[in-house]
Amino acid sequence: MNVFSGSGQSLDLSNGGTEVFIEVLMLAVSGLAEAEWDYRFAALLTLQDQNVMGRGSVGFDLQDIAWGTSTAERARSKDFVLRSITLALSRHRWSELGYDPPFARDYLLQFQSMVESLVPIDGTGTGAGFPSPEERAVASCAHHRILSALPHWEGCFLCVRPRAS
Ligand SMILES: [Zn+2]
Repeated sequence: MNVFSGSGQSLDLSNGGTEVFIEVLMLAVSGLAEAEWDYRFAALLTLQDQNVMGRGSVGFDLQDIAWGTSTAERARSKDFVLRSITLALSRHRWSELGYDPPFARDYLLQFQSMVESLVPIDGTGTGAGFPSPEERAVASCAHHRILSALPHWEGCFLCVRPRAS
């Protein structure tokens, strides 16, 4: 299981479920990202790639995210994530996934509940690995217009992932 937790709740996902959750979220984040923090959050999503990090060894806690150093920054960051979830729930670009994402709506609704309940803190210094500004996802795949970052400079998840059709 990969665990995404926060606000006293958790989203426990299988390896396949994790791929679905991260992919539908990344499609939305790629469409909305404009501030530096947004690209750091996108990089956090790319780190959830189990093909690189190992199966069943990804996940994050909302409390470990560096939401911002001021109240206004933290509110803006949280709003960005909520807007991304809302966009994902509208099935944004799901037709490009090449599969019908099972249970994606349930995952997103649960994540939405976690983020809505969250009182964001500045998680800097917890050592939990929220990507720094230098590590933000600066590359956008020209073919798919999806953000990518290390370890995938060569392309976005649609470029690099072998996909059974
Ligand atoms: Zn691509």
